[in-house]
Amino acid sequence: MEKLKYEKPVISKITAGVPNKFGLPTKQKIITDIDGIAVPELIENYGSPAFVFSEKTIRKTYNDAKRAFETRYPKVQFAWSYKTNYLNAVCSIFHDEGSWAEVVSGFEFEKALLNGVSGSNILFNGPDKSEKDLEMAIDNNACIHIDHFDELYLLIETTRKLNKKARVAIRVNMDTGIYPMWDRFGFNYENGEAWNAINRIMLAQDLDLIGLHTHIGTYIMTASAYGVAAVKLSNLMVAISRKFNHWIKYIDMGGGFASKNTLKGAYMPGSETCPSFDEYAEAISNSIISSEIPHEHLPVLFLETGRALIDDAGYLLTSVLANKRSTTGRRTIVIDAGVNMLFTTFWYNLGVFPSKEVSSHAEETTIYGPLCMNIDVIREAINFPQVNVGDQLVIERVGAYNVTQWMQFITYRPNIVLIDLDGKTHIIRKSDTMETFNNSELNPKR
Ligand SMILES: *Cc1c(COP(=O)(O)O)cnc(C)c1O
Repeated sequence: MEKLKYEKPVISKITAGVPNKFGLPTKQKIITDIDGIAVPELIENYGSPAFVFSEKTIRKTYNDAKRAFETRYPKVQFAWSYKTNYLNAVCSIFHDEGSWAEVVSGFEFEKALLNGVSGSNILFNGPDKSEKDLEMAIDNNACIHIDHFDELYLLIETTRKLNKKARVAIRVNMDTGIYPMWDRFGFNYENGEAWNAINRIMLAQDLDLIGLHTHIGTYIMTASAYGVAAVKLSNLMVAISRKFNHWIKYIDMGGGFASKNTLKGAYMPGSETCPSFDEYAEAISNSIISSEIPHEHLPVLFLETGRALIDDAGYLLTSVLANKRSTTGRRTIVIDAGVNMLFTTFWYNLGVFPSKEVSSHAEETTIYGPLCMNIDVIREAINFPQVNVGDQLVIERVGAYNVTQWMQFITYRPNIVLIDLDGKTHIIRKSDTMETFNNSELNPKR
């Protein structure tokens, strides 16, 4: 029998939060591969760090969500939230599954068109739509979700100028019991602003009001809040039919479903506490079906789910650069992926796991990124096994927002890889190179 390796004993005080009812794990979870492809192989081919997306997980998650809604409501349409992850390869998978596009800028609008989405299948949200953006949206017959009165007036002017009609919805904000309330987008329900906007739109010759939209927030952990929101939009729909004898075609419940990530400071892991797609679907469909809307006029239910559909499909592979002890004796490790490419680390205690068997001696550890910045902390306190320089780690559930909100800083941004359904790997976004910079920088001659 092989002699066991000597490991020096450690005395550890537990300060990494209060252990929850599951206690501290006795066995360290490891992630050796992604969809059957070994982590060392991925790092050898694509470098470290590298983002890796699983097409299998994307399609499975999408179909789980679709099934949850379609078994409860007759007309459901998802629209992929571009800002959550607008890598063309990722968007194309959602479009292939039947998803429309939900965009919040002219840039995203053009990206969706280039991804082959027909203009009439684009929902155009957000407070920043220039006259040029509105013209593009009108010309492409998109659904324009009006955010504020100034946009409404600009849109009326633009339709007159082009002598064309626009298909519109309004974004409605409301009290659903979730605080702080997101009241900065759209028109308020409770104070009558939304009703006022509806009346102005119904008066405008060239605007065709076809939808009502809301997006109550993000990472909403209470499914019943969606039930409240759906009741309020249903009420507006009924009021419109009473006054104008006009039936709204769709109710758009926005995004905001929680992913299985764990929020900082949470007592229980997100995988235990976040509502399932079934719970969200139950709350929303109950409200609409039981409202006063006659069943022959039931609207199409749009969902702009972002985070909950893509977080689980994204991984960040990273390597250990150094082991250190802080002046207080605390173990720290430095890895080669920083907060500049992990924006969601400010909200979540991201799961970080070794990629091979490790010693079972865990110690409270701080995980730092490689940036020369004090804020570059991936995990403040995590019970983590001893690892060596060069060991490869996997950070899970990083598919949402990180590769759109990331920022180039100090060094190149990494490759992004997709593992397709056949287990083949593809680079879907190349890492930066010196040319990336030199192509857009200009240095005036002196
Ligand atoms: C960001 C956004 C979404 C997606 O939100 P998630 O929280 O990622 O599901 C949907 N609709 C609108 C209007 C958004 O701004």
